[in-house]
Amino acid sequence: MAEKITMGPDGVLSVPDEPIIPFIEGDGTGVDIWPAARMVLDAAAAKHGRTIAWKEVLAGEKAFRETGNWLPEETVEAFKDHLIGIKGPLTTPVGGGIRSLNVALRQLLDLYVCLRPVRWFAGVPSPVRHPELVDMVIFRENTEDVYAGYEVEAGTPEAERLARYLREEMGWPIRDGSGIGIKPVSEFGSKRLIRAAITYALDHGRRSVTLVHKGNIQKYTEGAFRSWGYELVSEEFADRAVSWDDCGGDPGDRLLVKDAIADNALQQVLTRPADFDVIATTNLNGDYLSDALAAQVGGIGIAPGANINYVTGHGVFEATHGTAPRYAGQDKVNPGSVLLSGVLMFEHLGWVDAAADIVKALEETIAAKIVTYDFARLMEGATEVKCSEFASAIVDRL
Ligand code: NAP
Repeated sequence: MAEKITMGPDGVLSVPDEPIIPFIEGDGTGVDIWPAARMVLDAAAAKHGRTIAWKEVLAGEKAFRETGNWLPEETVEAFKDHLIGIKGPLTTPVGGGIRSLNVALRQLLDLYVCLRPVRWFAGVPSPVRHPELVDMVIFRENTEDVYAGYEVEAGTPEAERLARYLREEMGWPIRDGSGIGIKPVSEFGSKRLIRAAITYALDHGRRSVTLVHKGNIQKYTEGAFRSWGYELVSEEFADRAVSWDDCGGDPGDRLLVKDAIADNALQQVLTRPADFDVIATTNLNGDYLSDALAAQVGGIGIAPGANINYVTGHGVFEATHGTAPRYAGQDKVNPGSVLLSGVLMFEHLGWVDAAADIVKALEETIAAKIVTYDFARLMEGATEVKCSEFASAIVDRL
């Protein structure tokens, strides 16, 4: 019988064998990649005696066409009520109203972690010589920083008022004609993000968590993020984790928590990728780092992502690329990003066997050089297949 996923009193998700999972097909190429990914997810779940009762909910262009609303209340309610959902890419409405549907969902459900695992799949064309050394999981803070949206435009009365206040009250010589943005970074927001990263690292047998920050310049925001991280290690994880300064880089059997300044981190993930494992970082750093790392393993078109609130249990798993509208309906693009987001969702639900099966079948398909156009154009001797054919090839190997 189809049932809802619920949050147990112990803070652990309770997942029935036939969970109801809301999905948003997505705009543009969503019509191609979602059915392809769903076919693979269903086949892998069935192999382990499980079924997913998919529940379509609307957002984006399809919602606007059918209801006149870009993000209907029922959709938000469905995600609230069922805890876990998955979505394809959505068109960002241009003009007034909602800034971005993705941002709206994140804010409405307070999804404070943006989770982006980055690893290489054998055979995927990569710009670096040793992409296999990249196996990182990025925890990007999702609700604060310059992304909070507190900005005023140069020349507006609001900007003038704020500039006047800053000049008169703070003594800051803000130039005339400046746009001004506010960067809030709180102890609460930082600690809950870093707590999620450390807990994940411990649960998944990872070696280290690196706090990536720009604290040498932005002391009271980025620098505080780092300090709060180390404080959290001694407050809550002293028996299982240790900071670099307290162990000289030798954590024994505990998890090592260290930090790196963002610009240095961006070069070291390229030159010494094996030194990085789980990464916890502020919002803007995380944005740069996630895409730079995905590109490093050639995976920008197949990178998965999720937005999670580990306290309430809410999670929205999503393709990280956009709608690629010029390919919409052509059964052409790579379904890998939304499929691997589904794999991430399976892992999150504790369906690790089905998740591992999909990863293995995907690896075998790519290793056989059966790929969609985006990989085919970079691989020698590849067989280019359609989006749906790629999914079928994965199912054949499950
Ligand atoms: P995009 O849709 O990601 O497309 C950019 C390029 O990325 C495509 O032209 C294609 O490159 C490649 N690509 C994207 N998806 C692919 C896939 N599944 N397989 C293979 N290649 C893929 O970015 P955009 O054109 O800037 O944005 C289009 C719309 O998507 C906008 O409305 C934007 O706001 C929205 N968007 C949504 C999300 C989201 O919902 N999470 C994220 C980003 C953007 P080639 O043409 O070189 O093959």
